[in-house]
Amino acid sequence: MPLPVAWRTAAPKSKVINISFYQESHMPAVEPRVELLAHTPEPLSLIYAAFRQCYHSGAAADMWPRLLSGEISREKQAEFVASVLASGHASPAEHVSFTFALSGVSRALTHQLVRHRIASYSQQSQRYVDASAMEYVMPPAIARLPEARERFARFMEEVGAAYSDLKEMLEAAGRGASAKEDARFVLPQAAASNIVVTMNCRALINFFEHRCCTRAQWEIRAVANRMLEHCRAVLPELFRHAGAKCEGLGYCPEGPKFTCGRYPLPEE
Ligand SMILES: Cc1cc2nc3c(=O)[nH]c(=O)nc-3n(C[C@H](O)[C@H](O)[C@H](O)COP(=O)(O)OP(=O)(O)OC[C@H]3O[C@@H](n4cnc5c(N)ncnc54)[C@H](O)[C@@H]3O)c2cc1C
Repeated sequence: MPLPVAWRTAAPKSKVINISFYQESHMPAVEPRVELLAHTPEPLSLIYAAFRQCYHSGAAADMWPRLLSGEISREKQAEFVASVLASGHASPAEHVSFTFALSGVSRALTHQLVRHRIASYSQQSQRYVDASAMEYVMPPAIARLPEARERFARFMEEVGAAYSDLKEMLEAAGRGASAKEDARFVLPQAAASNIVVTMNCRALINFFEHRCCTRAQWEIRAVANRMLEHCRAVLPELFRHAGAKCEGLGYCPEGPKFTCGRYPLPEE
């Protein structure tokens, strides 16, 4: 039976991951997991202390208890952080990091993600993890068209079968555990992957500027938007105005060819 939405395995263990994520107009929705695993403790006070150290004759260590006790209020800390960040002095925001676990995302997504160099990554290995029951991501635009969906799903079944056949042949030829290393060459960009990513706040702001923009590809945009929600929940003072570049600029810098029209172009 064809699955209504986009996320399943090629093997009999087929699975649909739940649906509410890619909520764009009539687009059918699927939901990868975007979990915040951890973040640096006391993030606002840490960024404030780092900023203050630049302009203050005393030691940040002496200021620290006054920040945690509330003697220097959160509002004051937030106001100072916002004003200094606006001036372009952004390095103090590097002291706070967020670590996310992304799962059920495509290799097409992770390939784009790891282009962001100011980050740390640990990705599920196709050399060591058996892909005989490969999960895959089907683009919603394909999932919406019954004929395209059926063709896509059939191809994924073929890929899954080819992977298993090749792995068996290589094992029979004595390649042992390393058979997966070569069998994986047939796996597609749609193959689902899990990855842990850590970025500091400065890198995150840059990541959101690029990937929350409607010019970004739908899957990484959806994941970036979910990551931004997590960041806003923890550190609203810093991430309230984060997002696509237009959110901070108040206009669209993408030019007439690429603008989505949400904000005016600079010349308008
Ligand atoms: C809509 C869109 C389309 C894209 N299309 C393509 C494409 O067709 N082909 C392609 O290859 N990539 C493409 N990219 C990827 C893009 O070029 C960047 O590689 C990616 O977005 C990472 O951004 P970044 O370099 O700002 O991030 P990071 O690597 O995290 O770097 C953060 C910042 O650090 C600084 N920095 C990092 N490394 C250097 C360095 N070596 N030298 C100087 N400054 C540095 C820069 O200021 C940079 O903005 C696309 C991205 C988007 C959003």
